[in-house]
Amino acid sequence: MVSYWKHYHTPETVEEAIAALRGYDGRARVIGGGTDLLVETRRGLRRPFEAIVDASRIAGLNTIERDPQHIVIGCGVTHTQIVNDPNIQRHGACLSESCGVIGGPQVRNAGTLAGNVAHALPAGDGSIGLLALAGEVEITSTAGRRWVAAKDTFVGPGKSVIDRHREVLTRLRFKPTGTGEGSAFHRVMRPQGLCLPIISMAARLTVDGDRIVAANVSMGPVGPVPWFAEPVAQALIGGPATDAQYEKAVDVALSNVTLRTSKYRATEEYRRTMVRTYLPIILATAAERAGAKR
Ligand SMILES: Cc1cc2nc3c(=O)[nH]c(=O)nc-3n(C[C@H](O)[C@H](O)[C@H](O)COP(=O)(O)OP(=O)(O)OC[C@H]3O[C@@H](n4cnc5c(N)ncnc54)[C@H](O)[C@@H]3O)c2cc1C
Repeated sequence: MVSYWKHYHTPETVEEAIAALRGYDGRARVIGGGTDLLVETRRGLRRPFEAIVDASRIAGLNTIERDPQHIVIGCGVTHTQIVNDPNIQRHGACLSESCGVIGGPQVRNAGTLAGNVAHALPAGDGSIGLLALAGEVEITSTAGRRWVAAKDTFVGPGKSVIDRHREVLTRLRFKPTGTGEGSAFHRVMRPQGLCLPIISMAARLTVDGDRIVAANVSMGPVGPVPWFAEPVAQALIGGPATDAQYEKAVDVALSNVTLRTSKYRATEEYRRTMVRTYLPIILATAAERAGAKR
C-alpha cells in the first residue's frame, strides 16, 4: 500500500501545531479536511510528505464566534457548519451561499473554508464569498499572529502568501452585514459532467435609500487568482441601485477580466454572457437584501 506521509500529527493547540511544523523544517504540510490535498497527493500531483499536521482538531478552532466587530471562523470549521450557521446566513449571506455549492455533502462535511482560501485556486467558491465580505485571515507562525486581507493572500493559481509547510491559517473573519447592507453569491455550472465552474460571482452592497454607498464585488475564475473586483465596486459606488447602474458595472467587469475558452468550462462568449446575465441579478439581490428603495 502506498503511504502518503510518514507521520500524522493532530495537535490540540496552535502552539503544538507550529512546534510540529518547525520540527520538520519545511518537510511537513498543514491539512484541513484533506478534500484538496489528499486528492492531489493520490493523483501523484504532490510527493509524499514527511509529516502531516492536521489543523482541523485544534481546540477552540472548530467554532464560529462573534467578537465586537466580526464574525470569526476557526480553521477547523467545515463548509457545512458555515452553511448551517444562522448568523452567517443572515449577516454573511454570500459566504453561506458560496460554501453551500462546494462539492456534495461529504465534501462540505470535511472541507474547510480555511483550506479553500489556503489552497488559493482562482475558482475557490468559499474564497470568492469571503472576498466580497472583505474578509481577513489570521496567519500564525513562529513569529506570532498577523491578520491579512484575504485578497492579499492570493499570489497565483494554487499559490498563497501562507507558507503551508510552516504556517497555519488559524482564523478567518469578516464584518457582518448590518442595517442597509446585503450580500449575494451565484455560481454558473455545467448541469452534468465534469463540475468545473463557468463563473462564480459575489457582491456586498451598502445602500442609503436608493444610493449605493459602499460595494465589494468578487469573481472567479477570471485570472490567476480569485478577483477582488475593485474597478467594478468603484463603478457602483455613488450611483443608484438600478438595473442601468448594474449594466455599467457589468461593462467594467468584462473590460477587466480574461474569460478564456475552456473545453471543461465553456466558450469565452458563453462565459461573458453569464457575467452579463448573472452579475445584475447578484447585485439586485444584494441591494434588495440591503433594503434598497427602488
Ligand atoms: C469532489 C470534490 C468536489 C469539490 N467541489 C468544490 C467546489 O465546488 N468548489 C470549491 O471551491 N472547491 C471544491 N472542492 C475542493 C475542496 O473541497 C475545497 O477547496 C475545500 O474547501 C478544501 O478544504 P480542505 O479543508 O479539505 O483543504 P485541504 O485539502 O486540507 O487543504 C487544501 C490546501 O490548503 C492547505 N491548508 C488547509 N488548511 C490549512 C490551514 N489551516 N492553514 C494553512 N494551510 C492550510 C493545505 O496544505 C493544502 O495546500 C472539491 C473537492 C472535491 C474532492
